[in-house]
Amino acid sequence: MTDSVAATASTAYDAALKVIASVEPRIAEATRRELEDQRGSLKLIASENYASPAVLLTMGTWLSDKYAEGTVGHRFYAGCQNVDTVESLAAEHARELFGADYAYVQPHSGIDANLVAFWSILANRVETPALAKLGAKNVNELTEADWETLRGELGNQRLLGMSLDAGGHLTHGFRPNISGKMFHQQQYGTDPATGLLDYDAVAAKAREFKPLIMVAGYSAYPRRVNFAKMREIADEVGAVLMVDMAHFAGLVAGKVFTGDEDPIPFGHVVTTTTHKSLRGPRGGMVLAQKEFAADVDRGCPMVLGGPLSHVMAAKAVALAEARTDEFKAYAQNVADNAKTLADGFMSRGTKLVTDGTDNHLVLLDVSSYGLTGRQAESALLDAGVVTNRNSVPNDANGAWYTSGVRLGTPALTTRGFGKDEFDKVSELIVDVLSNTQPGVTKAGSPSKASYKLADGVADRVRAASAELLDANPLYPGLQLS
Ligand SMILES: *Cc1c(COP(=O)(O)O)cnc(C)c1O
Repeated sequence: MTDSVAATASTAYDAALKVIASVEPRIAEATRRELEDQRGSLKLIASENYASPAVLLTMGTWLSDKYAEGTVGHRFYAGCQNVDTVESLAAEHARELFGADYAYVQPHSGIDANLVAFWSILANRVETPALAKLGAKNVNELTEADWETLRGELGNQRLLGMSLDAGGHLTHGFRPNISGKMFHQQQYGTDPATGLLDYDAVAAKAREFKPLIMVAGYSAYPRRVNFAKMREIADEVGAVLMVDMAHFAGLVAGKVFTGDEDPIPFGHVVTTTTHKSLRGPRGGMVLAQKEFAADVDRGCPMVLGGPLSHVMAAKAVALAEARTDEFKAYAQNVADNAKTLADGFMSRGTKLVTDGTDNHLVLLDVSSYGLTGRQAESALLDAGVVTNRNSVPNDANGAWYTSGVRLGTPALTTRGFGKDEFDKVSELIVDVLSNTQPGVTKAGSPSKASYKLADGVADRVRAASAELLDANPLYPGLQLS
């Protein structure tokens, strides 16, 4: 952001907050406070980032007022010419940036993108052959009796995804999630000894289970995935490969993940969020190979509510940013910084799941400190370090308390943190964890939630963080009056 852009953005936000305050001052105040909080904390949540003022400003306009169900040039509402411009541009940027056949930029979030993907795969692979049997071309030609028969035809609705405790996402077939209800699900995990994906084990499971959909992708796996191998497995068992790159889309866009690690050439359908490492507005996208494009396009109104035109506009702006060399350098820094962070922990004796990282995230196993993830997360927050607790493979403390803490580098890398800063971050975190004791329950047994952080540690860590944060300001030059 240049000085003049920062000055203009300052004026814009000052004016916007004044307008908001004239109606509901408490919202203006909360918005102002959120900027202070974001500026003043060490944000290591792996799924978060800081979008540029250009992206943020794009969301605050009257594009929000327009209904535009349908697709470009084929809307259920009149007067969508400007939304058409916005949506086609966002899709064009996405196709070019990722080298995808087709891009659908309407999903409101990553989960919505996955629901669209599931819908499109079912429509493409199950419904069409069943329709042919009924002598119908599309679902509109079916009678009620046909529908009854069709439901009986939906034989293979099996989904194989990565288990939650190995790093997969809730929507990859986790039993309580809708994906675990609409599909017969099975999960693959990681090798118990190394914590790494074992492709032979995945293949064996796929051969036995014969899924319709194989999902690759993760939220908490600190390693790259070989998507060529995953596709080979999917092809062997006749499954559709769906890749959920919600977490690492920025590393794909920035060409850090290339060749077999680039999901686009291998995934039949690839879903993503736009607000994590990709650094755009909150939202989702589906990228698809040609065969699935028409079915993905029916996402709205089959699965989704009306598109958020203001957010699609912000996606176009963020994707334009992601096409620059500056973004490429950013993505490489995200990965390099994660390595520095991991090395910092390991050299200070902290155990990491898979003993390292080669993407944007690091997963600490805090059981080595005698703590649960919940205790570690809370103690770190007391010291101004924002992380989230996370399961580790075969977690003894379950999905609520957990034994892990997940850290990611995308947000602080946006602020300009580099090697020295991330090494210091690992030192500060180790300072907190090694000075935290688990508490006891009223009955005197070990508590999984309460803890005692030694006196003075929080202040010491906060002071050291403040130095790092002040030297690397968030939105430099942006000043509210
Ligand atoms: C974050 C995430 C999602 C969900 O994204 P939302 O925008 O919160 O709906 C889906 N899949 C994976 C792998 C994720 O990490």
